[in-house]
Amino acid sequence: MKEKIYITKTYLPPIDEYISYIEGIWERSQLTNNGPLVKELEDRLKNYFKVKHVFFVCNGTMALQIAIKALELKGEILTTPFSHVATTSSIVWEDCHPVFVDIDPQTLNINPNLIEENISENTKAILPTHVYGIPCAVEQIEKIAHDFHLKILYDAAHTFGVTYKGKSLVSFGDVSTISFHATKLFHTVEGGAIITNNDKLAEKIGYMRYFGLKGPSEFWGLGINGNNSEFHAAMGLCVLPKISELIAMRKKISELYNSYLSINEISHPKIPEQTQNNYSYYPILFRSEETMLNVLNHLNENNVYPRRYFFPNLSKLPYVKYEQTPVAQDIASRVLCLPLSSYLKEKTVKFISNRILESITHSS
Ligand SMILES: *Cc1c(COP(=O)(O)O)cnc(C)c1O
Repeated sequence: MKEKIYITKTYLPPIDEYISYIEGIWERSQLTNNGPLVKELEDRLKNYFKVKHVFFVCNGTMALQIAIKALELKGEILTTPFSHVATTSSIVWEDCHPVFVDIDPQTLNINPNLIEENISENTKAILPTHVYGIPCAVEQIEKIAHDFHLKILYDAAHTFGVTYKGKSLVSFGDVSTISFHATKLFHTVEGGAIITNNDKLAEKIGYMRYFGLKGPSEFWGLGINGNNSEFHAAMGLCVLPKISELIAMRKKISELYNSYLSINEISHPKIPEQTQNNYSYYPILFRSEETMLNVLNHLNENNVYPRRYFFPNLSKLPYVKYEQTPVAQDIASRVLCLPLSSYLKEKTVKFISNRILESITHSS
């Protein structure tokens, strides 16, 4: 490949569509602080997800931190070692302690059968990630949370457009957070959201997101600046109407990869039944780290840059207590996410697949 092919290429709407929103911003001179475009985006997202409350915030990490704060968690939070660093860093940043529960080798999500044995008297919540948009064992997690009086906060950063049993995946748990970063399927350049159906929690989140301000000169309590701007909302309003088309294009590319890469040396995570996938990532598992690294090097030599999502496993972060999570460690060592975007051409998918196949045959 002459052109470098990265893990993803951000979808950009026709520039005229964006400009028409920007003209409105110029007319109103309101650039931020819960302006009309932010409100419009939140309303449209509520409709899209079929949930009661959506708070558009500056990024997915801030969404997690505000959610932890709003749930008033102090103590241990059970979480997955196989996710983006923000899942763990948010817990530590909010002065809680992450306790890593190993993952299921099929879905790559927190293993629900290992949750109970990790619960202590200090456990306050479960914070799993629906990794690659694959639904966690939500029913089992809900039952455990109910039995042990724990809160559930889902890191739903990868789940835009995913439904499970006909419901938007972000509607599960006490609260879910999502990222709208430029590398994610639906994006607002930078951004994220906090989603809940709980009115009381929503009231708190609303204040917390905006400095804890109740009126022009009255404070509800402690808050932070979690706001996002009219410019970011405008991007979201341009991308949202295109989302089903973008998902369909990614589905086509994923199926093409499937057809080229159906060999014994490569396996895929398992997606639970009754899931409507969003094709936000194309993860593949090799038999060993060595094979994966050979493939990665060979692709890099050909100007193709997949990513090791997610490596290393989060229990190895320098600021957490190391815990053995052998499944997560094994998976993290041999997983690779291949380039996937709505711009990826069929011949590029074929090129990438052929480079992978030749690398595997040469090394075996
Ligand atoms: C991207 C991501 C985040 C962080 O979102 P930002 O918007 O980049 O702050 C958190 N969790 C997961 C699983 C992610 O992939």
